[in-house]
Amino acid sequence: MSDAPTPAGTCDSLDMARLLAVDAAHAWHPYTATIDRDPVYPVRAAAGCEIELMDGRRLVDGMASWWCAIHGYNHPVLNAAATAQLGRMAHVMFGGLTHAPAVGLVERLVQLTPAPLQHVFLCDSGSVAVEVAMKMALQYQQAAGRPQRVRFLTVRGGYHGDTFDAMSVCDPVTGMHSLFERVLPKQVFAAPPAPAFEAPCTDADIAEIAGLMARHGDTLAAVILEPIVQGAGGMRFYSPAYLSRLRALCDRHGLLLILDEIATGFGRTGRLFACEHAGVAPDILCLGKALTGGYLTGAATLATTDVADTISRGVPGAFMHGPTFMGNPLACAIANASIDLLLSRDWRGEVAAIEAGLRAGLEPCRQLPGVADVRVLGAIGVVELTDPVPMRAVQRALVERGVWVRPFGRLVYLMPPFIITPAQLAQLCEAIGEVLAALAAGRLTEPAHP
Ligand SMILES: *Cc1c(COP(=O)(O)O)cnc(C)c1O
Repeated sequence: MSDAPTPAGTCDSLDMARLLAVDAAHAWHPYTATIDRDPVYPVRAAAGCEIELMDGRRLVDGMASWWCAIHGYNHPVLNAAATAQLGRMAHVMFGGLTHAPAVGLVERLVQLTPAPLQHVFLCDSGSVAVEVAMKMALQYQQAAGRPQRVRFLTVRGGYHGDTFDAMSVCDPVTGMHSLFERVLPKQVFAAPPAPAFEAPCTDADIAEIAGLMARHGDTLAAVILEPIVQGAGGMRFYSPAYLSRLRALCDRHGLLLILDEIATGFGRTGRLFACEHAGVAPDILCLGKALTGGYLTGAATLATTDVADTISRGVPGAFMHGPTFMGNPLACAIANASIDLLLSRDWRGEVAAIEAGLRAGLEPCRQLPGVADVRVLGAIGVVELTDPVPMRAVQRALVERGVWVRPFGRLVYLMPPFIITPAQLAQLCEAIGEVLAALAAGRLTEPAHP
């Protein structure tokens, strides 16, 4: 079409109006329509804890780009790791070849995660890490002589990614199961974990999921869930005691336990991995998001020696998965630098300070009409509303106050980079308070067209 970019004038160097026009015509953004689109804000650069828009406005980042950018943007240490690795090789295949960035990464991950996890499968993205975990569980049960164990047990309110098997264990409502009903594998769902983070886990709290295991046990391959924090499925926090009781139940019923730490891994909840709150080791662990410090897509699925060796002794004598960009050297080199940087910093102190700042800054929102709950755990702060957020109006009002916060559903939440300053954190919390007050007072209107 006429306004498509020509080779001589690509959008890399175009003015903002043209960039937005081409974006509107051709770029399909996450969870959006191509007609009557939500507005998008063009970014020129990002550094530290700030995103700079093309019109020159600077926004304090409250999202860490969907949990990933734990060190902020344009970090000199990660930049140096990327540049050094680029000078050696951006990529080589991982079939039959190996290299220091990948080996360095698997060594670090084995050292940092619970001791039984000894084998690391590197993959492309969080959703793929979940697919890999589910395939491992199926091949494990098959190899162990229990081929009828083909389903998964999970809890409602979860989020595990957007590919088909990952989607099948997402919350059935927010995961849009009705849309894909005919093709989606049918899994077994229990209620979301009820006891709050500080609470014990009673027999009643675990009764339903224990009953489901007893009833469906011989057709179940594994339990899969997010430890302690249910992220994109609703931003709920639950009791570590629930997780440890679930671990014991899995053992009793011969089910593997898959923990999806893609959102929680690398310090976000105040522990390096959220399963540490419960002292629980999974059979299979999924990592992603902050793994590469927010620079590149990259994920990992870790397995115990029992899982890995059982699969390897079964038919066909191998684990059947192998992404093209598996073990990408550039992503691995940056991941190594990101992990070393995290461990070299007082990340526990940083996350504890963010937790205190979020508690102080978001607590006043509890008094506002339309606010159902305010909750904080580690570097995660959540304001839950009684009604869905009017996205366009709220997003615009937040940007006008100089912050980047991306609400979803009934949730306005923060999970900033760990390097955020107290002043920046206060600005984020104040902006949310002001915008929610304006919303409650009917002073925010939803623009029909941006
Ligand atoms: C984001 C997320 C995923 C999916 O990761 P992608 O990289 O987006 O595919 C899976 N599980 C959890 C818990 C997540 O937060």
